[in-house]
Amino acid sequence: MTCQELRACLDAHLDGELDLPLSLAADEHLAFCAGCQWAYAQERELRGLVRTRFPREGAPAALRERIRGALARAEQAAGVGVPRRWAYWAVPAAAVILVALGVGLWQRSAPPPVVRELVAKHVMYSRLDAPAEIVSPSEEAVSGWFKGKVRFDVAVPDFSPSGIRLVGGRLADLTGRQVAYLLYEKGRSLISLFAFPGRGLALPSGEGTSGRDDRFYVAKVDGTEVVVWTQGEVAYALVSSLDRESLLECADTVWRLVVSRKPPGV
Ligand SMILES: [Zn+2]
Repeated sequence: MTCQELRACLDAHLDGELDLPLSLAADEHLAFCAGCQWAYAQERELRGLVRTRFPREGAPAALRERIRGALARAEQAAGVGVPRRWAYWAVPAAAVILVALGVGLWQRSAPPPVVRELVAKHVMYSRLDAPAEIVSPSEEAVSGWFKGKVRFDVAVPDFSPSGIRLVGGRLADLTGRQVAYLLYEKGRSLISLFAFPGRGLALPSGEGTSGRDDRFYVAKVDGTEVVVWTQGEVAYALVSSLDRESLLECADTVWRLVVSRKPPGV
């Protein structure tokens, strides 16, 4: 991708509207081009300003209620669940389509932008020769490296019982927020574990999905499995070309580790 091409799709990239190959090409360009990095940062800052000065108007309350009612009725009729958070940001037109098509189908075919961005990052890092900033097989060393770099406790799970080894970690970015990124590998498969503050992000939830375990949202994007969940203030995402069962096992390991690390009485 050239600078000119990048500038042409900068807006769409910031909006998370590019398809996966384009989004990857843009990220690759941004990784080495200082000029475009600057343009990207400027544009993002400008958007932040616009958002805080001119908050977007929400849908009228009565309309929101009607949509929620319609979604709830469709959910009952179809016997499938709509993850609660989705209902809030569904635009009226999308809500009508949802009801018409059946929410399950739509949800499977169109993962939210944040999920696609996570997959894009996973694919991008898996193409780099040395994606980790700290390379260490020690959970303690990697966890310690993040101290003072991110504003949350980074739990570094041990997946070795499943034959998955820790490679290391790095800092990453997700729509302007800081992400602790952990890399694991099994054979030639890379397993990405992202941890980031979940507040204010339109994250999907496993609630009401047909999966066996409603703690986790699961999706498959371009052949890559994604598991997303939130524990307290921190959201987690596992992304890999491994099979879903293995990834859910890993998710359960992280879940239990995070629970065990909570200070008593909280
Ligand atoms: Zn450039």
